[in-house]
Amino acid sequence: MPSKRRNNGRGKKNCGHIRNVRCVNCGRCVPKDKAIKRYNVRNIVDASSRKDIKENSIFENYNLPKLYIQQIYCISCGIHSRIVRSRSRADRKIRYSPSKSMVTRPVRA
Ligand SMILES: [Zn+2]
Repeated sequence: MPSKRRNNGRGKKNCGHIRNVRCVNCGRCVPKDKAIKRYNVRNIVDASSRKDIKENSIFENYNLPKLYIQQIYCISCGIHSRIVRSRSRADRKIRYSPSKSMVTRPVRA
C-alpha cells in the first residue's frame, strides 16, 4: 500500500518503542515522536493587569515570572486547532520547519 508519508508522520528512526504522551486538548494517547509539541512562554497575567500590579507593587524593578508550558497535541487536535496544516504532496517532501514568523499565530480558544 502506498504510504502518505515515508516516516508515517513520526520521527522514530530505529528506536523500537517510544512512550505515549497524552494530548492536552482531548487526552488521546500519541507517541511522543508523532505528537505536535509547542513550547509556550506566556506572561502569568495579561498586559493590563500586569500594569496594575506593577503600579501597586512596593518593589520597583520586579518582573513577574513567566509561564513556561510545553503543550502536546495529537494529530487531530493539531489540525483542528490549526497548529499544523495538511500540505500538498509536493510540500510534504519539505523537511525543514517553516520560519518562525509563519509558525506563530494566535490559537483560537
Ligand atoms: Zn487531541
